[in-house]
Amino acid sequence: MTSAHRIEYLVLGAGPTGLGAALRLEEKGLGWRLIEAGPRFGGLASSWVDDRGFTWDLGGHVQFSHYETFDRYMDLALGPDGWHRHERESWVWLKNRFVPYPFQNNLHRLDPADREDCVEGLRKAAAARTLHPEPCRPRNFGEWIDQTFGEGVARLFMRPYNFKVWATPPEKMDFHWIGERVAVPDLKAVTRSIETGQDQVSWGPNRTFRFPKRGGTGAVWEALGRRLPAERVTLGAEIVRIDPDLRQATAADGRTWLYDRLISTAPLNRLVRMAPGIVDDRVADRLVYSATHVVGVGMDGTTPERLKTKCWIYFPESNSPYYRVTVFTNYSPENAPRPGAQWSLMTETSESADKPVRRESLAEDTVRALVEDGLLPDRRRVVSVAHRRLPQAYPTPFLGRDALVDPALRAFEARGIFSRGRFGAWKYEVGNQDHSFAQGYECVERLAADGGAEYEPTLFTPDLVNNRRNP
Ligand SMILES: Cc1cc2nc3c(=O)[nH]c(=O)nc-3n(C[C@H](O)[C@H](O)[C@H](O)COP(=O)(O)OP(=O)(O)OC[C@H]3O[C@@H](n4cnc5c(N)ncnc54)[C@H](O)[C@@H]3O)c2cc1C
Repeated sequence: MTSAHRIEYLVLGAGPTGLGAALRLEEKGLGWRLIEAGPRFGGLASSWVDDRGFTWDLGGHVQFSHYETFDRYMDLALGPDGWHRHERESWVWLKNRFVPYPFQNNLHRLDPADREDCVEGLRKAAAARTLHPEPCRPRNFGEWIDQTFGEGVARLFMRPYNFKVWATPPEKMDFHWIGERVAVPDLKAVTRSIETGQDQVSWGPNRTFRFPKRGGTGAVWEALGRRLPAERVTLGAEIVRIDPDLRQATAADGRTWLYDRLISTAPLNRLVRMAPGIVDDRVADRLVYSATHVVGVGMDGTTPERLKTKCWIYFPESNSPYYRVTVFTNYSPENAPRPGAQWSLMTETSESADKPVRRESLAEDTVRALVEDGLLPDRRRVVSVAHRRLPQAYPTPFLGRDALVDPALRAFEARGIFSRGRFGAWKYEVGNQDHSFAQGYECVERLAADGGAEYEPTLFTPDLVNNRRNP
């Protein structure tokens, strides 16, 4: 089947980016169609229910926002009463103790030898930055860690933890994406916290966040997707070929759509191959990313006292496969089929060629480590272990990324294809839900300019949007 007429805007993918674009196109009264390969809205921000009735997200998703528009849509999606609101409580598990996050601001929790090591490293790093500013300009993420935090914090937490998350050696990564994401230590504050023994927990953009009462994070995107006119949305159609000359997209089942402009939220490495002749195939091979395994563990009983108020915990040590564990029923008790009588933990483990994972035994390795780390008091009470692998989960900010990605985005634009979103634009620093939604929304604002936007702030000025509240 071929659509007889040319569609003004064809949007590829119904994750947050595609939905941001489609909702804005609808508001502006333009001609559009949304095509999604999967059976539902939400992409990587969707949720699923396992065969024991536990709800899971695709990794720990936290709703926080840099945008007034995004907040307005969140309210619209679930109404003001559809949410639980939480204070962030995140922790690091290290040497059999919890240290509040940010780790470097809570060194008083460490044993004296580690604490001394960390403080000494921080002091030396600060002195080196002052005395030798020139050689201290880091060339990669690994050097940035060492020069910012010094030997102790780098060895105990920053290096092992970051390798566990990114599955990429820090020497292969850039550091410009960091911006507001990591608390850079203030030596005075570190010393004060050691003297007073007081935890410093309130830091960063996601101090508070909201979470849907029912249906997990995916409920938001399902609700927004259902606000779109159904006749303009096609689910279950995977686009496999794009002809940039004809401006035609073809699905795996042979259906085709003609378009004027294509907003693609498919991963850029896939787009390069789907629309041949625009960007060299070798670019696709050089884009670095990692996979994530989500292993959810559902239990009978009530949440143990020590986990009752915790949101998520980071794990730098090598005894566990996971880098992060979310106490998922703390986000909403409804994430368990019997709220209040069951609870759940959701773990994330990264995978790449640099960091392979034993996939067959991962579920068992996860449960064993949860017991060992004291998170799972009685494994006989486990009633569900659910495992999903996300083949593309983190777009790695690898060295040389922008020199590869930016010309590719421009080459596609010259042919009427606008590649946006977490993997569409491959910019981790603007790859959260709020950013992704904004990328879709702002792309429409720019294309349908009618005196409106001249550029897309989220894509073109990540530092700016990340450091302010965006109207
Ligand atoms: C482990 C993990 C943890 C995260 N934690 C957070 C968090 O705490 N807070 C936060 O805000 N965000 C978080 N995110 C990010 C969030 O999931 C993304 O911001 C968001 O999903 C990106 O939206 P997107 O639309 O750009 O891409 P996606 O969600 O990937 O959506 C793209 C859509 O396009 C479809 N598609 C792809 N190719 C085709 C094709 N050829 N034909 C048709 N359809 C196609 C896909 O099926 C998919 O539905 C996390 C992500 C992961 C993986």
